[in-house]
Amino acid sequence: MKVLKFGGTSVGKPQRMHHVASLITSDDSPKLVVLSAISGTTNTLVNIDQALAEGKAEIAQQLIDDLYQHYQQFLQELYQEPDALQKGKSVVDDHFGLLKRLQGQDYQPEFEKEILAQGELLSTKLFTIYLKAKGVAVSLLPALDFMAIDANHEPVIEVIEKKLKALLSADEGSGLFITQGYICRNHEGNIDNLKRGGSDYSASLIGAAIKAEEVQIWTDIDGMHNNDPRIVEKTFPVSRLSFDEAAELSYFGAKILHPASIWPAQKFNIPVRLLNTMQPEAAGTFISQDTSEDEIKAIAAKDGIVAIKIKSSRMLLAYGFLRKVFEVFEKYCTPIDMITTSEVAVSLTIDDTTNLQPILDELQGFGKVEVDRDQTIICIVGAQVAGNRGIVRKAFDSIDKVPIRMISFGGSKNNISILIDTKFKKPVLDRLNIGLFSIDLIE
Ligand code: ADP
Ligand code: ASP
Ligand code: MG
Repeated sequence: MKVLKFGGTSVGKPQRMHHVASLITSDDSPKLVVLSAISGTTNTLVNIDQALAEGKAEIAQQLIDDLYQHYQQFLQELYQEPDALQKGKSVVDDHFGLLKRLQGQDYQPEFEKEILAQGELLSTKLFTIYLKAKGVAVSLLPALDFMAIDANHEPVIEVIEKKLKALLSADEGSGLFITQGYICRNHEGNIDNLKRGGSDYSASLIGAAIKAEEVQIWTDIDGMHNNDPRIVEKTFPVSRLSFDEAAELSYFGAKILHPASIWPAQKFNIPVRLLNTMQPEAAGTFISQDTSEDEIKAIAAKDGIVAIKIKSSRMLLAYGFLRKVFEVFEKYCTPIDMITTSEVAVSLTIDDTTNLQPILDELQGFGKVEVDRDQTIICIVGAQVAGNRGIVRKAFDSIDKVPIRMISFGGSKNNISILIDTKFKKPVLDRLNIGLFSIDLIE
């Protein structure tokens, strides 16, 4: 069985849903299809939740009404058959009924996850009604019945596998299944989610749970590009990546994949293909254990980084100093991305600033602490990239006018990371595109 995930823009218009329906029914091979919410829905749900949390009832009302109107229009264009239209309307009324009920109550923090879950619940139900009206045999699998996370918000593959396999074997053999991306249940049995963009992660977890033949991520671009297409002109798709390369690129900002979406596939050696819904014949990107020999694959950038420097003469010739520093980050559950040390100072970066202040307060006890905000990590990824003198020279030559705050080199063979002020991000990505891919030669 293959797992196919379609993102928000792929189902963002009724015509796109029609197109996805023809893509998944073009052959009879068994498929498990994971859908995101219709594009824009989750953002609006976030705004509705925020307005309710802040007691801004009128704003919440307006947002709910506008979204409801959007769905009414969507239904009209999605269905040709009156019976399907009627079923679609009652699904929409059910889910908006829930929003209205929550709106009428005193706000509770638990509302958030329930509100955010409505997008995927709606898209999958509306799509299933459409397929059934077309005479397609299909089963809707509720993700809330199998997608499970533990108390640390980590997915529990064994539970997902057991519950999902039971649901699949109870089915009468339609061979085509639809389920929701993004949403799950937590260890208390409450509705939760896999964080924004999490439908990719759902697809990969499902692929791992059922040992799928392949996981396909269908989106609005023809694969992983060599550089961020939102910022740089003249980028191109990379045909092959290893799991490690794809994981680094997604973690360091390539939005096409949720940062955690590679490890489940990698753990069970399930290939992942990135494909373009609007251009299904394009080759896309194939991600597997092997990689092609091209030394450089792609560049990604991650914003919102904070650099922290701790300077202390106590570090000189001392052991145990770094352990104490790391323990502070561990205590506040804050991952460190980059790290460099000298005999008297250590610099490191974080992107989760939730506990920045208590972290800084504790670090003051070890020495002088300096903080730089609005930093960006630029990550250059490719097989052996860090071992190739030609690439290293070209990379640094092409950005020689830019002040560099930190460099991480040699941590892995696949990656060179550079920390810069975010204001230099566009010129750095542009120059690396020219310097590393001779991009001006490509028309
Ligand atoms: P979906 O809604 O299908 O999940 P996303 O918007 O999450 O789609 O991801 C696709 C987008 O990722 C693309 O439209 C593109 O703008 C952005 N993106 C960022 N970096 C890259 C990259 N290196 N390669 C391809 N797309 C990228
Ligand atoms: N709908 C969710 C979001 O917008 C999950 C996803 O699209 O992957 O973040
Ligand atoms: Mg996405």
